[in-house]
Amino acid sequence: MTPFTYEALPARIIFGNGTISGLPTELSRLGRQCALILSTPEQRGTAEMLAGLLGTAAVGVFAGAAMHSPVNVTDEALHEVDRLRADAVVSVGGGSAIGLGKAIALRTDLPQIAVPTTYAGSEATPILGETQEGRKTTQRSLSVLPEVVIYDVDLTLTLPSGMTATSGLNAIAHAAEALYAADANPVASMLAEQAIGLLARSLPAIMRNSSDRAARSDALYGAWACGTCLGLVGMSLHHKLCHVLGGSLGLPHAPTHSVVLPYAIAYNAAAAPEAMRRIAGALGSSDAAGGLHTLARSLGAPLSLAELGMQVGDIDRMADIAAANPYPNPEPLTQDGLRRLLHAVFHGRGPI
Ligand code: NAD
Repeated sequence: MTPFTYEALPARIIFGNGTISGLPTELSRLGRQCALILSTPEQRGTAEMLAGLLGTAAVGVFAGAAMHSPVNVTDEALHEVDRLRADAVVSVGGGSAIGLGKAIALRTDLPQIAVPTTYAGSEATPILGETQEGRKTTQRSLSVLPEVVIYDVDLTLTLPSGMTATSGLNAIAHAAEALYAADANPVASMLAEQAIGLLARSLPAIMRNSSDRAARSDALYGAWACGTCLGLVGMSLHHKLCHVLGGSLGLPHAPTHSVVLPYAIAYNAAAAPEAMRRIAGALGSSDAAGGLHTLARSLGAPLSLAELGMQVGDIDRMADIAAANPYPNPEPLTQDGLRRLLHAVFHGRGPI
């Protein structure tokens, strides 16, 4: 066994169908009775349903969460926390709503209950990415890790198929990079392999029938496992590139991850053969990058950065930014290598 360090993250996870009915009990378990519910504007209805469940223990709904946690939105939400004297936050939705809950917790130390309805995995990590004046910064702090996570499969049934595909591939990206992380450990690697297999089987089933509860349940469990990997070990080239593309060009989070993943994995293939073997095995494919590309295609996910609105003239600048701050990656990072990768993924030529 290769030597490793493993540090568990504290969290109470509740998983199942109809589990949201336990929300009032979870809030009183935390000793709180004045929760502010957070969501994006599109999920205000779900946030109001949660407020209804809590009755007088909900002091309001703030439905202004946005992608990449803009600091001005956090300031508005903090104003509501003060005005309504909230003593806890409940964030319902994808990484945007959960990111807002984390940004509030960072500044107030209020406890958070996260209710994820996508597969992004933010609820399982002590990581917060925030944007201010077009710049995205990321920090790690245990104070942003939600105290309680309620996974309710029923709340994921409405996730549209396009978002299901890209969010599921976003989750697989956490697991794939965990398998070759510089600080990999056997717990994260075991979860990663299991989660890639579960998502690779359940996502096509959801595309055929979006109300397939068994497949939705496997996908949500897989998303928790992938998010746990993201929280446990450091990420490499793939996450760095997506961070640069999202933060600098405003490309959409989950679609960017799903487009870049096969190319980033191909870049690392020769330098991380054991991780490739495990990814390919979990996908039921002979090749990790090829298997991911085939999966993305079969799910109808976007296949090129051009489709997401990137301009060809942005490639060199993105390669320079991504190469500027060194970070651990199995294959050494060179500007030329990154440029070639970005050209291939821009045109959607298929991973080499
Ligand atoms: P998102 O939260 O922005 O959601 C995308 C859209 O889907 C929103 O309009 C939302 O309202 C809608 N939606 C969510 N669940 C739905 C459902 N069940 N039914 C119908 N509509 C639904 O997207 P995301 O990809 O989940 O999250 C992206 C954000 O999360 C980014 O800001 C990213 O940086 C962050 N993130 C952070 C971490 C971390 O560890 N810090 C990890 C992953 C993602």
